[in-house]
Amino acid sequence: MQFENTIEFAQRLDQEDQLRRYRDQFLFPKVNGKQVIYFTGNSLGLQPKNAKQYVDEVMRDWSELAVEGHFYAEKPWWDYHERLAQPLSKIVGAKPEEITVMNTLTVNLHLLMVSFYRPTGNRYKIICEEKAFPSDQYMLQSQVKFHGYNPKDVIVEIKKREGEHNFRIEDILNTIQEIGDECALVLIGGVNYYTGQVFDMKTITKAGHDIGAFVGWDLAHAAGNIKLDLHDWNVDFAAWCSYKYMNSGPGNASGCFIHERFHNKQDIPRFEGWWGTSKETRFLMKPEFEPMPNADAWQLSNAPILAMAPYLASLQLFEEVGMDALVQKRDLIVSYLEFVLKEIDKEVESSFEIITPSNPKERGTQLSVFLHGEGKKLFEYLMKNGVITDWREPNVIRLAPAPFYCSFEDMYNFGQILKEGILKKTSQLSN
Ligand SMILES: *Cc1c(COP(=O)(O)O)cnc(C)c1O
Repeated sequence: MQFENTIEFAQRLDQEDQLRRYRDQFLFPKVNGKQVIYFTGNSLGLQPKNAKQYVDEVMRDWSELAVEGHFYAEKPWWDYHERLAQPLSKIVGAKPEEITVMNTLTVNLHLLMVSFYRPTGNRYKIICEEKAFPSDQYMLQSQVKFHGYNPKDVIVEIKKREGEHNFRIEDILNTIQEIGDECALVLIGGVNYYTGQVFDMKTITKAGHDIGAFVGWDLAHAAGNIKLDLHDWNVDFAAWCSYKYMNSGPGNASGCFIHERFHNKQDIPRFEGWWGTSKETRFLMKPEFEPMPNADAWQLSNAPILAMAPYLASLQLFEEVGMDALVQKRDLIVSYLEFVLKEIDKEVESSFEIITPSNPKERGTQLSVFLHGEGKKLFEYLMKNGVITDWREPNVIRLAPAPFYCSFEDMYNFGQILKEGILKKTSQLSN
C-alpha cells in the first residue's frame, strides 16, 4: 500500500479498520482535556470498559455471599482461575491444560526454575540474551547463587555485534552450539523489551533441545502482541505478565505455560501448595499431595479473585477479536507509524533512528526510536503534548501502537507533534 502522511489518508485507514469500534471499549487518560495518543500499551495496557463490571461482580458476590462465594458465586471463586486458561491458550498457541494463571511474572519464573533449572555435573550453564530485562537478570543470578554457583561461571550472554542494535539468529545458534552439553537451560525474552526484536522461538527452542537443554521463554512483551505456537514449537515452559499487551490492570497476575509432556510426572521437582492438588480431594485436607493432571499442579495458593476479574474481562475482548485480526491491524499500523516517522525524519534532517528490525517478521507492535541529541527534552515535550511514550536510557523512546485501541489518525497526529517538538528544540538551540 502506498502510504501518505496526511490526515485524510490516516482517517481513511481508520474507516477501513475492522477493529475500529474497539477503541471505544477502552478508557483513555486525558492531557489538556484531550484524549492522549497512547504508545505505552507495552508497559501498561489501557483499562477495558468491561473490567469494572467484572470487578463489581466479585465485590457484590463477596458482600452478598461472603465465604459461600467460593462455591455459589455466579463464577465460583474456587476454580475462577481456570476460566482464563481457555482464552489464553488461543493467545499463546497452547492447549488449555498447559496454561495456569497465578502470582506475578518474576515469581513464576522463579517457580519454573525450580522445575527446569536442574544443574548437574558438567551441565549447569544458562544461556540468555545480553541486557535482558533487569528482573530476569536478578532472577537468574539469584537462582544460580541459590544452587551454589558463581553467576560468572554459569550465565552465558548472547551478544549483539559491535555497532548493531539487534541480535543475529546465527549468533544465538552458535552460542547454543558452543556451550553444547554444558548447557542446562536456555531462557530468553521472546520479544526484546528494549528494541522490540522478535526472536525465532521455534528455531531456538529446537536448537536448545538438540543439545539436551531445557528451553523457556519470558513472554512479557510477546503475549497478546505476536502470534505464538508454544505447544507446537515444543517449548518446555514460558511465563508472561498480563498488564502489558493484555490490558489486565497494574501488577496483575501472570500466566504460565508448561508443556503437557511434563504433566503427571512424578519425578519433576516443584514447589507445591494446596491449589495444585487434585480438585476432587483438595478439601479432604489430606497430608498427601496429588497433583492436578495439568499445569495447575504448579498452583500454590487460592487465587486473588479481585485481580483475576479484570484479567478475565480483558480476555473476553481477545476472544471476540482473535490474534489473527490483531496481528493484521498491528502490521498495518506499525508500518504506517514507521512511514510517518521516516517522513518526519526527512523534513527535520535526521534527528532520530529506528532501532527495531525493519523486517515485519522480526518485530511486533513496538518501534524503538533512538533520539540523537537532546532526546530527553523531546520526550518531555511529547508527554506535555499528550503523547504518552516511555523513555529508556540512554536515548530511546518506545512507541507501541496497540492495535486494540490506537488509531491511524493517532499516528498522523503524533508525527505532527513530533515535528513541532524537534523544530522548537532546534530553534531554541540556535537562539
Ligand atoms: C515487564 C517485564 C517483567 C516484569 O516482571 P514483574 O514480575 O511482572 O514485575 C519481567 N520481565 C520482562 C522481560 C518484562 O518485560
